[in-house]
Amino acid sequence: MQTLASGFRFVDVRYRGTPGIIATAVLQGASGVALVDPGPSVALGGLRAGLEGGGMGAGDVEAILLTHIHLDHAGATGTLVRENPHIRVFVHERGAKHLVDPTRLLESARRLYGDQMDALWGAVEAVPQASVTSLEGGETLAVGGRELRVAHTPGHASHHVSYYDAASRVALVGDVAGVRLPPSSVALPPTPPPDVDVEAWHESVARIRAWQPDTLFLTHFGPFTTPGPHLADLLDRLERLADVARRLVAEPTEAADTTDATRQERFVTELRRELWGHVDEATLTRYTLAVPFEHCWLGLARYWKKRP
Ligand SMILES: [Zn+2]
Repeated sequence: MQTLASGFRFVDVRYRGTPGIIATAVLQGASGVALVDPGPSVALGGLRAGLEGGGMGAGDVEAILLTHIHLDHAGATGTLVRENPHIRVFVHERGAKHLVDPTRLLESARRLYGDQMDALWGAVEAVPQASVTSLEGGETLAVGGRELRVAHTPGHASHHVSYYDAASRVALVGDVAGVRLPPSSVALPPTPPPDVDVEAWHESVARIRAWQPDTLFLTHFGPFTTPGPHLADLLDRLERLADVARRLVAEPTEAADTTDATRQERFVTELRRELWGHVDEATLTRYTLAVPFEHCWLGLARYWKKRP
């Protein structure tokens, strides 16, 4: 368990035994503990160890707040609720039904991860409907001894929300503020299928800026105390990569050797170029664990193909 100056705490769940990839925020108050994005069930051991290090256990958790339902953020939710049925789960209304019945969520993940699914994420258990509270944005939640504001922040996913604790001025932004893995300072926009939306992403960042946070807390990975430059860097890179994808999608298939595979390859090369010179080999590998680069292509290609 790590503690920020503001008293804000988080656990590194040590996804795949590797530190610095997935962080779960831990809010503790008199009524109990709230977790923001508990991570995948394959990393539950790391989450439990982190909570124990902070003198608490999963039984103390009163609420799980999800930024979105992708498995690296929410996969362990059903297991935690089965073990601790009093836990309340908060999620955007568009994601709620996929927690209650994860069939479609798992089908969509299996298209991306194939037979690696179980090894990468572990069990994904359904969450009982009665445990789920749907959010639309605009709410204020009293959980974990805090008052958290909720904003709908699509872009990475249509059902993504962010949370803001005005008392500590920390914004919990899931994936909408990108992936940034220290010691690197590169904020990479994760753009997997199926519902990346570049315009919505810009509007969501404006919504986060309007909170005027001192700290952005990213699932991948941790707190950053210069929100202005961080978000500017993220949006610049999102524009560049979206533009690369747009040009590749528009390129005629008859052009020399242009296939979906070569388009993907060229996109991934451009994406790697964004990181070259800024990250060492080990950090580069961690970036690919947090967001497979091929998936970034698939999400942006789908986005451009869907547009009129
Ligand atoms: Zn993620």
